[in-house]
Amino acid sequence: MKLTNISEVREIMERNGLRFNKQFGQNFLINEAVPRRIAEECGAKPEDGILEIGPGIGTLTRELAARYRKVVAVEIDRNLIPVLGQTLADFDNVTVINDDVMKTDLKALLDEHFPGMRVTVCANLPYYITTPILMKLLESDVFFDNITVMVQKEVAVRLTSLPGSAEYGSITASVGWYGKAEKLFGVSAGSFLPAPKVDSAVVRLSLYDKPPYPVRDEALLFRVIRAAFGQRRKTLLNSMTSFFPELTKNALEEAIVNAGFSSGIRGETLSTEDFAKLTESLYDRLGKPNENDNSTERNE
Ligand code: SAM
Repeated sequence: MKLTNISEVREIMERNGLRFNKQFGQNFLINEAVPRRIAEECGAKPEDGILEIGPGIGTLTRELAARYRKVVAVEIDRNLIPVLGQTLADFDNVTVINDDVMKTDLKALLDEHFPGMRVTVCANLPYYITTPILMKLLESDVFFDNITVMVQKEVAVRLTSLPGSAEYGSITASVGWYGKAEKLFGVSAGSFLPAPKVDSAVVRLSLYDKPPYPVRDEALLFRVIRAAFGQRRKTLLNSMTSFFPELTKNALEEAIVNAGFSSGIRGETLSTEDFAKLTESLYDRLGKPNENDNSTERNE
């Protein structure tokens, strides 16, 4: 069975009366080297579990099942479930779940299928929902070792860009809180059937066991990041002023300076570590609202 063979993919789809469902972002891999490399470089060890999102007809799933202890693949399209039954029939370490990953209880899934195992996420993600899926994986109360995903090239650039560059944004700084993002390799649009309009790249997020820059209030960190990028052309101070109405401009300026930055700095030049420092400085201010200033009432 060679699921990257174009005629084989077409034949499987026709035999099962299926069409590529655009709404579900179905672009299946037809370049043999790509699923192999994703599986090889995803960062997992042979004894680890793999959570795959969107197995499609099982092309990447087969490469994963051949290398790792157990694979659980969550596929939204119920029409693909019987196909996966056929294409994965020779593996006894794969479980396919028909579900929308955005609705999946990840904790329950890991407890049931991967007890005591380290788990890596591996996926050729549907592009219409890349960021929500990534954020769900990162924000969930379960720990993944790595999240290795195929995404649009532009998203890969964003995820791996450095502070100060045009592509650096709130997603970059937020992801940096959870782990280190690394581009593994680029993938041309011609590697998929049907070919999408854009090129892609595979990114591996190697997740930290615990945050390297501890903060006392994680929600505050993400609020600070959102505020810093909320109004890109403004200075950090001006951008934060509208996001933190409970603090005076003076208090915000003091928090920025106490964190070690100049009051005229722009948010997009701050690394995740810088945002952590700023969060700590702000936390102190929020804990001690300016008693002399009547405008510091909290709007909670
Ligand atoms: N893994 C296959 C491959 O590489 O050839 C297919 C990848 S295709 C880009 C994305 C897959 O994700 C499709 O099979 C699609 O049906 C599935 N999918 C889309 N949205 C989903 C969701 N919310 N939850 C689970 N699977 C989803």
